[in-house]
Order: sequence, then C-alpha cells, then structure tokens
Amino acid sequence: MNSRRDFLQKLGISAIALHLAPLSGWADSKNNQEDAYDGPVLRVAIMGLGSYGTRVAEAMRSCKKAKLVGVISGTPSKIKDWQSKYGIPEKNCYNYENFDNIKSNPDIDAVYVITPNGLHHDEVIRVAKAGKHVICEKPMALNAKQGQEMIDACKAANVKLLVGYRMHFEPKTLEVIRMRKAGDFGKIKFFQGLCGFTIGDPTQWRLNKQLAGGGSLMDIGIYAINGSRYMTGENPVWVTAQETKTDHEKFKEGVDETIEFQFGFPSGATASCLSTYAMNNLDRFFLNGDKGFAEMQPSTGYGPIMGRTNQGELTQPITVHQTVQMEEMSDIIFKGKQPVVPVDGYEALKDLKIIDAIYLAVKTGKKVDLSL
Ligand code: NDP
Repeated sequence: MNSRRDFLQKLGISAIALHLAPLSGWADSKNNQEDAYDGPVLRVAIMGLGSYGTRVAEAMRSCKKAKLVGVISGTPSKIKDWQSKYGIPEKNCYNYENFDNIKSNPDIDAVYVITPNGLHHDEVIRVAKAGKHVICEKPMALNAKQGQEMIDACKAANVKLLVGYRMHFEPKTLEVIRMRKAGDFGKIKFFQGLCGFTIGDPTQWRLNKQLAGGGSLMDIGIYAINGSRYMTGENPVWVTAQETKTDHEKFKEGVDETIEFQFGFPSGATASCLSTYAMNNLDRFFLNGDKGFAEMQPSTGYGPIMGRTNQGELTQPITVHQTVQMEEMSDIIFKGKQPVVPVDGYEALKDLKIIDAIYLAVKTGKKVDLSL
C-alpha cells in the first residue's frame, strides 16, 4: 500500500500539482524579495564536499542573502570541480591542513562544516579561532561536553555558531508550531516521532563509532529528539530508552541499529520515539492535544513535507529547505534576526544532552533525569 499516494488521492490532487503549485508561489514571492534585496550577503565556504555539502551548494544557487565563495576539502579533484561549477577563486580554496589561514581572507564571512560528526568539534573550534562565523551540521558534536567547548570557543572568538536545523524554517512545521502556541490543539498530551531508513554500505563513516559517535540516533533519531521539543514547546525532564540489534556484524559495539526512547515533559505530556537504521518508510510526527492533533508524513525529509491537523490539510508552500535556511541564517548573522525556533549552539547542546541521556538510559536500563 502506498500511503503517500493514498493521502494525495484523498486530497483529490495529484503529486505533480501539489509539487508545482506551491513551488511557483514560492518562486514568485522570492523573486519579489530578490529584486528588492540590497543588504549584506553572507559569503560562505563549505567544508566537506560530500553528499549533503553538494545539496547545500546547489540550494545556495538560489540564495540572494548568502553565496558560496569558498571550499575546504581533502580531495583536490573535488576542489577543481567545484571551482569550475561555482566560480570559486583559487585564493578561497583550502584543505584540512591549511584552513586556519582563512583568518587572513577578508572575502569569507562564515564556514559551513558538513563533515562526519566526529570531526565537527575540532573543525568548528579551528574555524572560530580563525575568526569566522560557523554553521555546523547536526549533530553538532558527539556529546554535550564537546558541544559546550564549541560554544565556549565561538563565544571567546566573538563569532556566531549556528547549526543546520533546516526544519526550523520549514513552512508547514512553522504552521503547526504557530497553531500549538495559539492553543489550537489544547493542552499537549503526547508526541510520537518515527525516524529511520535502511542503511547500506557497511564501510561508510555513519557506521564507524569514531566518526559517527554512535549509530542511527546521532544521524536520524536526532530529528525525533529535536522535533519532540519544537512540536511540544517543552524540554524533556526524564528519558527512558531501549536498544535492539538484529545485525551485530554491521552494527558494531557503540553503533546503534534501533533505539526506542520516551520523554516526560514538565507539563505531564510524554513522547514516544523510534530511531532506526533497519527500516524504511519511517518519517512521521504526530502531536496530540486535548482539543486537536497534527500529523506530518513525511515530517523531516527534504520535501515535500506533508501533513494535516484536526482543522484540515496543511497547505503552506513547499520550499527548498537549504535555500531558506541559508537566507535566514544570513539575517541571523548580519541582522540579529531571532528565528521562531533557535538554531544556535545552545539549541544543539540541548539535543546533545538528551542524546547523552538516551545512551545512558540504554546502558543502565534506568530512567535518567534531565535539566536543560
Ligand atoms: P558524506 O560522506 O557524503 O560527506 C562527508 C564529506 O566530509 C566527505 O565527502 C569528505 O569531503 C569530508 N570528509 C573529511 N574527512 C572525512 C572522513 N574521515 N571520512 C569521510 N568523509 C570525510 O556525508 P554527508 O554529507 O551525508 O554528511 C555530512 C554531515 O552532514 C554529517 O554531520 C551529517 O549528519 C550531516 N547531514 C545533515 C543533513 C541535514 O538534512 N541537515 C542531511 C545529511 C547529512 P572532502 O572529500 O571534500 O574532504
């Protein structure tokens, strides 16, 4: 059964129509903004020219407030390729040995770190010491201790630290948050977050404890963790968690295949979540209150995000998440704009504290109290 197709059929609308109509609306409004924009442009160097770095670079082609101007990579052939694709001058190209020299490059404002998780800590601190703003991919670090050190380094260097929480700028997500704040769902009672996919190549860094910091929880479970917080509007005060592993060859010691975890919030609401590298078709959020509900599926994929509430279908525009994120981050860095849901180091630190607590709960089999 194809639940997405069924959902679209119920709406009486084709997938193509759904895809194109809001996109053109978005493009129109964006074009108007583009014509009018004459403010500062965030000049960004991407570190780590992999799969997600490529997606961000492509999305930035449509940005007006941010521009890709530099690269940091360990692969000379990729540097050449990106230079010709994005018109990047030689003087803005670095490798992992010499990127501290970015300090004396006045043409780069910020570095976007898009490397494996285990490298973020040291790289972000080096970028901060070079005096550049940092955008870091999720998870910001491997644990809360590292996260705090990164925040401290950026503070000491007087640079901004932002984390690539692209869902914080996604229109349907923001609408559900608006409705929850307006009381449309009543008192929030429950959140469910299901996040997972079947992972392939057993040699990839995502299955390497040193580089990944764990398994599915670090990579995809973090969406349910972060989502439980922005959907309910609360931070958990306790965590319980259980791990199951069916493939001990692929998922070695310290690399989780599947973890189910539960949160309790100060209001008495609870959350029940699943993070896995062993199942597909898991990208679903469900928020329930005593007056209404919101369900989103897909809830965190690259899009289109789809969903409905007790009041009907969510019809906000489909966006390219990374384009909007970079436009907004330019405003956060240059104009001090406050996003509806924060994307700073402190926001990421909360997720890292929760991740630490989940792994501790798995290890001890006990409920872990949290104070965020
Ligand atoms: P990839 O493996 O596709 O790319 C990572 C890149 O990092 C590599 O291509 C390489 O680039 C560089 N790198 C440096 N050192 C290493 C190393 N030791 N092993 C492997 N690569 C290395 O990973 P992704 O792009 O999928 O993920 C990168 C980060 O982005 C992760 O933190 C991930 O969680 C996050 N991410 C976020 C998403 C989101 O939606 N916000 C989605 C996907 C990923 P080079 O050759 O240029 O040095």
